[in-house]
Amino acid sequence: MSTAASPSKDFIREIIDQDLTTGKHDGTVTRFPPEPNGYLHIGHAKSICLNFGIAQEYGGRCHLRFDDTNPTKEDVEYVDSIKEDIHWLGFDWGDHLYFASDYFDKLYEWALHLIKEGKAYVDDQSSEEMRAGRGDLQTPGTDSPFRDRPVEENLDLFQRMKEGEFEDGSRVLRARIDMAHPNLNMRDPVLYRIVDAVHHRTGDAWKIYPMYDFTHGQSDALEYVTHSLCTLEFENHRPLYDWFLDNLPVPSRPRQIEFSRLNLNYTVMSKRKLLQLVTDGYVSGWDDPRMPTISGIRRRGYPAEAIRSFCKTIGITKFKSTNDIALLESSVREVLNRDAKRYMAVLDPIKVVITNYPVDQVEEFDAVINPEDPELGTRKVPFSRELYIERADFMEDPPKKFFRLAPGKEVRFRCAYFIRCDEVIKDDDGEILELRCTFDPETRGGENPPDGRKVKATIHWVSAPHALDAEVRLYDRLFATEDPDGGDGDFLDHLNPDSLEIISNAKLEPNLASAETGETVQFERLGYFAVDPDSKEDGIVFNRTVGLRDSWAKAKGK
Ligand code: ATP
Ligand code: MG
Repeated sequence: MSTAASPSKDFIREIIDQDLTTGKHDGTVTRFPPEPNGYLHIGHAKSICLNFGIAQEYGGRCHLRFDDTNPTKEDVEYVDSIKEDIHWLGFDWGDHLYFASDYFDKLYEWALHLIKEGKAYVDDQSSEEMRAGRGDLQTPGTDSPFRDRPVEENLDLFQRMKEGEFEDGSRVLRARIDMAHPNLNMRDPVLYRIVDAVHHRTGDAWKIYPMYDFTHGQSDALEYVTHSLCTLEFENHRPLYDWFLDNLPVPSRPRQIEFSRLNLNYTVMSKRKLLQLVTDGYVSGWDDPRMPTISGIRRRGYPAEAIRSFCKTIGITKFKSTNDIALLESSVREVLNRDAKRYMAVLDPIKVVITNYPVDQVEEFDAVINPEDPELGTRKVPFSRELYIERADFMEDPPKKFFRLAPGKEVRFRCAYFIRCDEVIKDDDGEILELRCTFDPETRGGENPPDGRKVKATIHWVSAPHALDAEVRLYDRLFATEDPDGGDGDFLDHLNPDSLEIISNAKLEPNLASAETGETVQFERLGYFAVDPDSKEDGIVFNRTVGLRDSWAKAKGK
């Protein structure tokens, strides 16, 4: 258990420290409370790192509780994916897995309690009538004609709502607080509604379902949560949650603290919009590597550690802000630079024939697996007479500053030899078919020759007869504008038409045959790439995770 003061502590951890020092609590219990109505996204990761992180740091515990009060939108598929994603992020709830639906009996009992106290009533108004009666920030609301129903009548009607006697939407149970309250959430909020749907856990046992607001705070209280951490939009729900805690025989009194949510530029984060991208086919699924979902970024090759360190970097505050996605990408690069094994791969191949190299000869050169981790040693890379290089590493008619391969020019082929281009072979349309080159045996292993000759550029290559064929999926931002949610237009208008480019004939160093699904490697000089689950025995598929540098900012002239 660590409560030592640290200069980088956020305001929430400071409150927790204080509560432990004053003895208000002798332990810390937090929770992460997703609604199982979609996949988790990077915004949820901020809340997960906060809640589970606090439990780890303070030797407390963090519950995973599904707030499953809306049977029409929820599904076990979402429950399962959420659990998988939290585990992947590196956190665990231990024995503390809960569902708000476990508390339906208790919540029903507490609704009866409020009715008996004269603090809740059944309202027969239509939803339009209720909306009209609610008033607005300038105008107080008006009392429902059903507000003064006798307790007995309320008990009878609520019981019959539960038994399924009335149609969906025909009646609700409302708290009886104050229709003129300056906070709209306090103007007799709905506690229960009739929903004719099958719930993924309770089946058809219930015909009425508690509202999120009537469930959330009491669930925290039932679980003895000490600090209920939530995002700023719940700040003006807090008086209502407190009203429930004041008026119900709850076993504990959690303290709610709000922090600002994570927003990222070039990204939409609302689950409703992400669902729309999936169902309307703009992406291949919730785990499309362009999605900001945890499953998408995992498939793209982002390491969990990079997500955690990003969340740490942005910190926890109460200020609304939008973070730059480049910051997330740089966290990803930092971890991958340290961990990813290096390989050579050619994405846009052009053939090179070394005319003075024996036809059947193959040599193996040693190449460093990861310069950041020398203990991993070296790998053997085959070299032969026919090779592939990147089309962009050759220019027939180069400008002065181009130091890579060109007719009459010499470059170093990484770890192999100095190679000079002698001749360009083209087809009838002028397309380059191959480059005829010669090698200098004195430069074996890529060493400078005894005559002191130097070259300015080193390029990567793959031996043609040994190359593995691969599909490589190059991703760019899913949205072309910084704030796809801003303005009056539809967020879909901001989709980037070039967010996916598929390369079907990439040539890889043969060592990549052993790369495993989910592994992220570096293709030297090109970036980081992750093996996609679509890979088959006879064809490996890579996703570009991120480039080596932030080329986007440069390309867009920022
Ligand atoms: P969305 O608005 O994307 O639909 P939500 O808030 O309805 O998300 P929940 O399943 O209720 O999704 O979220 C679970 C927890 O994650 C909540 O405590 C919520 O405050 C938190 N959370 C959701 N989005 C973000 C975000 N962008 N930044 C930080 N925390 C978030
Ligand atoms: Mg929510």
